[in-house]
Amino acid sequence: MQSKGLILFAILVVNALATGLAVVHMWQIKVTGLDRLGAMIAEAPGVSDWFTPRPGDPAAADAVAAADPVVPGAADSDTPDGLADAGNAGGAPIDRAVVVRRGDTLMGLLLRAEVPRHQAHGAITALAEVFDPRQLQIGQRLRLKLVRSGGETRLIGLELAPNSLRRIAVARDLAGERFVARDQERAVTTRLAAARAEITSSLFEAGAGAEVPQAAMVGLLRLFAYEVDFQRDLHEGDRFELLYERLETDDGTLARIGDIQFAALTLGDVRRAVYRFERSDGRTDFYTPEGESIRKSLLRTPVDGARISSGYGMRRHPILGYSRMHKGIDFAAPTGTPIFAAGDGVVELIGRRGSYGHYIRLRHNAEVSTAYAHMSRYAKGLRRGNRVSQGQVIGYVGSTGRSTGPHLHYEVLRNGRQINPLSIDLPTGDKLTGRTLQAFRTRVEEIDRAFATSAASIQLAQFTPE
Ligand SMILES: [Zn+2]
Repeated sequence: MQSKGLILFAILVVNALATGLAVVHMWQIKVTGLDRLGAMIAEAPGVSDWFTPRPGDPAAADAVAAADPVVPGAADSDTPDGLADAGNAGGAPIDRAVVVRRGDTLMGLLLRAEVPRHQAHGAITALAEVFDPRQLQIGQRLRLKLVRSGGETRLIGLELAPNSLRRIAVARDLAGERFVARDQERAVTTRLAAARAEITSSLFEAGAGAEVPQAAMVGLLRLFAYEVDFQRDLHEGDRFELLYERLETDDGTLARIGDIQFAALTLGDVRRAVYRFERSDGRTDFYTPEGESIRKSLLRTPVDGARISSGYGMRRHPILGYSRMHKGIDFAAPTGTPIFAAGDGVVELIGRRGSYGHYIRLRHNAEVSTAYAHMSRYAKGLRRGNRVSQGQVIGYVGSTGRSTGPHLHYEVLRNGRQINPLSIDLPTGDKLTGRTLQAFRTRVEEIDRAFATSAASIQLAQFTPE
């Protein structure tokens, strides 16, 4: 907040009394330090903390943290009577944060906050002009500004940031009757940033010491997760190198991390480097300097945060009651948990399939397929014949078909027969050749140069925890 060149967007509603029209203006005001307007906003009850980024959340360290109060007049003691009335009828405005939960509608959310239905309807109608309320994601935070008096709740405004660069505010117009929506987007520029650091305790501490945002370190971790056991293989003196994109607003604030272009991990004497490369067919992947894709095998766990509730092999069937071969792995997870494609492939089957319920089968190569059963639903728009990439969400955990509770039944098939998913390690065979390999080598040189240029200005960061 104290950064120089802090830009404050202020929406001010001006009453053009002479014409009897409410005219809405938007000013862009450059504030250095804490001037009068800044001070007023800082003092406004509950306003200064709106959209304050959570610590450790780089995506939240965004533009909106420095933005204006959602409610015109709430920060301004000189508001015209109309606004003062809108904002302060009988009590100070209350800020209320609400979070979108599974199954929520915006109407339901507002009603739960005791907003009368006709006001909620008005606010939603205004919001819909700039943002489809059905696009609200689970976990999305909304800030409501309310006034409660005499047992009645009055909605003054609401605000949400669908992403770190966009902020939408709905507020009452001057007359205090209708709602108007404002949609603000920050411009960003992409900058390449290089980092390298020696690991003295953990990779994340080394990253923090080199001022690498945590999201970029998570990206680096993912890139090597196939090969490196970070608990066991990492030792003091090992090092990482990273070239990644930073999307920054005009005041240099990090909005979010873009793509990692290059990452290297040196463990002992062994240096592993990977380069991002987009092939002419549009597929992007990470490759070793020799041009081999780093995606080596199917994902071990094609669903996030799940535990194996039943392994591959003989077991007593929970519904049928007798012992039979369990030809897959069951992952217990709540209904709605996303299911990932275990590898790059093509949708071979998608639809209901007897006791499997909602079912998807992906073909990964001439031999190997994977199957996913009991889904509650499929990823939107997914059709037979579609290409999917490893890690892409293909559907959601459910309990359709013959199932005792929500879980993913996962199978790996080789030549059409189920095999133990834990027993295989399948190379994807994706190695660049010919012209593609030549193009990749050129790219590697470019990236190496970019890293050397960026890295020339950085010291080898060394993080020593006390
Ligand atoms: Zn099963």
